[in-house]
Amino acid sequence: TDRDHRWVYPFAEAPASNKTLLGGKGAGLAAMTAAGLPVPPGFTITTEACVAYQSHGHHFPEGMWTQAREALKSVEEATGRTFGDPENPLLLSVRSGAAVSMPGMMDTVLNLGLNDETARGIARQTGDERFAWDAYRRFVAMFGEIVMGVEAERFERVLERAKAKTSGGRDTDLTPEALQEVVAQFKRLVFGEQRGVPFPDDPEEQLRMTIAAVFDSWDNDRARAYRRVHRISDRIGTGVTVQAMVFGNMGWESGTGVAFTRDPSTGEKTLYGEYLLNAQGEDVVAGTRTPKPLAQMEADLPDAFAQFREIAGRLEAYYGDVQDVEFTIEQGTLWLLQTRTAKRSGAAAVKTAVDMVAEGVIDRETAIRRVSPEALDGLLHPTVDPDAEVTLLAEGLPASPGAATGRVVFTSDDAEAQAASGEPVILVRQETSPDDFHGMVASQAIVTARGGMTSHAAVVARGMGVPCVAGADTLEIDAGGGTLRANGHTVLAGDWLTVDGATGRVLLGQVPTREPQLGEDFHTLMGWADDVRRLGVRANADTPEDAQTARDFGARGIGLCRTEHMFFGDARLAAMREMILADGPGEREAALRKLLPLQREDFAGLFRAMDGFPVTVRLLDPPLHEFLPSLLDLTGRIAEIKLALRHADTLEDMDRLLDDSDTARGLLRQVERLHETNPMLGLRGCRLGLLYPEITRMQAQAVFEAAADCKASGVDVQPEIMVPLVSVATELKDQAALVREVASEVFAERGTEVDYLVGTMIELPRACLTAGQIADHAEFFSFGTNDLTQTTFGLSRDDAGRFLSTYVDRGILRADPFQVLDQEGVGQLVRMGTERGREARPGLKVGVCGEHGGEPQSVAFFHDAGLDYVSCSPFRVPIARLAAAHAAL
Ligand code: PEP
Ligand code: MG
Repeated sequence: TDRDHRWVYPFAEAPASNKTLLGGKGAGLAAMTAAGLPVPPGFTITTEACVAYQSHGHHFPEGMWTQAREALKSVEEATGRTFGDPENPLLLSVRSGAAVSMPGMMDTVLNLGLNDETARGIARQTGDERFAWDAYRRFVAMFGEIVMGVEAERFERVLERAKAKTSGGRDTDLTPEALQEVVAQFKRLVFGEQRGVPFPDDPEEQLRMTIAAVFDSWDNDRARAYRRVHRISDRIGTGVTVQAMVFGNMGWESGTGVAFTRDPSTGEKTLYGEYLLNAQGEDVVAGTRTPKPLAQMEADLPDAFAQFREIAGRLEAYYGDVQDVEFTIEQGTLWLLQTRTAKRSGAAAVKTAVDMVAEGVIDRETAIRRVSPEALDGLLHPTVDPDAEVTLLAEGLPASPGAATGRVVFTSDDAEAQAASGEPVILVRQETSPDDFHGMVASQAIVTARGGMTSHAAVVARGMGVPCVAGADTLEIDAGGGTLRANGHTVLAGDWLTVDGATGRVLLGQVPTREPQLGEDFHTLMGWADDVRRLGVRANADTPEDAQTARDFGARGIGLCRTEHMFFGDARLAAMREMILADGPGEREAALRKLLPLQREDFAGLFRAMDGFPVTVRLLDPPLHEFLPSLLDLTGRIAEIKLALRHADTLEDMDRLLDDSDTARGLLRQVERLHETNPMLGLRGCRLGLLYPEITRMQAQAVFEAAADCKASGVDVQPEIMVPLVSVATELKDQAALVREVASEVFAERGTEVDYLVGTMIELPRACLTAGQIADHAEFFSFGTNDLTQTTFGLSRDDAGRFLSTYVDRGILRADPFQVLDQEGVGQLVRMGTERGREARPGLKVGVCGEHGGEPQSVAFFHDAGLDYVSCSPFRVPIARLAAAHAAL
């Protein structure tokens, strides 16, 4: 029964390895306590209690409160203080802690247990009235905000007014009397907001309400939003740790800080962090004061620093991973408040993983597992072109690497709205809070004027791989007025900025960026990943440059060359239009003769760039309207000419305009003739080649001539010709026969032979169902999961973006199926197509070339489904390689 169930564990009795039960914070504190490290005594209320609370109509499960009071007694014994005792009061910190770290997403209340009497008790004991009332006002504000739901700014405003009355205007200038008045006003604020609910003076009532509020915070909007983005289950709940307070704000022998056992941006093996003297923990994390680098603590508090350095080393060795440690020094005595696995940039993840293998701390497989494929995104980010002319607006901390350009916005709502309309935005804030999460997700980069490397903005941005500059304190931000001033410049909302997260610079305008350079550690780790993965990784590339980039990123071949992409650009587009609009085979062949040499050159470039690897060339697959002027443009043009005719002065002008008019009208008739209501399901894919075999002929001829030429010059060419959008086996049979016929002709004419394959895209449900018949004519399959998703869902890939986010927000879909493969539906078709294809043709080579080929969850699925390779855009190749290794482990 609930009553007998164990809901509460003192740190010393808690099962430190059970993070699921205790939450990350509770587990870390239990482990540190067990290791004999200096941890203030306390206890953890389990995540199970939180889940039970949620499902019992927001009531504590039976027995929980009794157990908590019991555990509180042991804290009283350990500290020699009594909760609520005016003579010798115990104060508590109450904090949330889920099994999965959600930085800053949930709530903390410090100095709990204060009321007028206990505050006086603290003042007597410490002989420091100012300290006591300062702690009290912090408590009332935190409690008011978190438990009673009063906006933090209201407390802030009262405090600002009180400070304005002092001579110096700073926190520390407030006298005990002034602070006493602040506390009274804070309480009235809470009372007023809550319409008659007085501020609870009873410490037990404070504790009960705060625990409930932490449980409730699991379900607030920002926590839900965070979990959605990071795909964390809503059902795991949070633990609550209740712990004796220690004070970092008891004078200049006291302080508080956060440290990483290695640099979380670069991975360098040095103790890295920040601290503040005479401050409470929240001051560092909330970014309200800009902290000092940890290295300076060696001079300020040498003994505590030496002790901390030694403990940090032990913690890293114990966990075998980089730790993020929170500590407080109370009048010279060091206390540890938290340790957890450090979040780190992609670069740091790679470097620490590789270094720790060299140090003998972990093995290669662990190293591979330690780096999430998504984290590589951060490494593959561009940097500001070092040769570019730049105008510096401001400088801050290099909080998250990468460079990005966008238009300035000052609020998260604006960021979200403008990003939704396709504008790249840079979010500029005084500091961010978890309420800004939706704006941060929508931004290309984030800039804050306050806060350090461990501020909310920095931690969240690094986690998402978004460039961030934090603590750029020369920025004067007037969010209301929509202006930003620094270094003699004024920037308005909507102006362009460039953010260099690697150096901490904020630059005016759109500065060119450069592609990333990948270091030795990266290649080492990727080499290990290649050793364990089974899936091959190719790239989708249409130009020799893209092919080269892909090859540099480790692609072994091209899985998709979209030949229609080769016809963007003016001269080529003209020839392409001529071909599309041709009146009969004669005219079409004439146009195709112009295209042939261009295509041959394109293919030769690809073959050379992919020397030794296969190159999959897909026959033309465009909805033709993409290459034609729109009906609207044409009718507009005709109206313009008509108007010009009315004002024509000379006969020559008139003749010319009449000619133009004839041309435009002719074009209009042709475009009308070709117009399709639904071109995505119209005359595209292999249907084109079936109706106009001369197109397939030309493309095959270009491929084989290029292959023959390249082979003659010593290139190892492996062409694979791919027929798109097949739904009936006969379509493929027809096109494959034509390709083979052209191959024989070219080889005979050139007196050489090149090995090649003919295969097909599988991107329609009917193709999956009849894959057995199709395989009779296909030497390989490549799943086109973009079209397959479109046709399986009956969801237009060009239009669905507008409403799919609503689907995801409402939980109708877990993710956008055009980004993350829908395993349940589309995935079933992929499995079926693969099985039926291989039944008919054992050993059939099967790949995928839709966008999903570079998405880690989808890659894991393709591995599982037994595919041979994935093909993705060049920049996602390393991500796919690592994801494939993860899938194989
Ligand atoms: C696909 O449909 O998945 C595919 C790769 O082809 P395209 O995106 O060019 O339609
Ligand atoms: Mg397709």
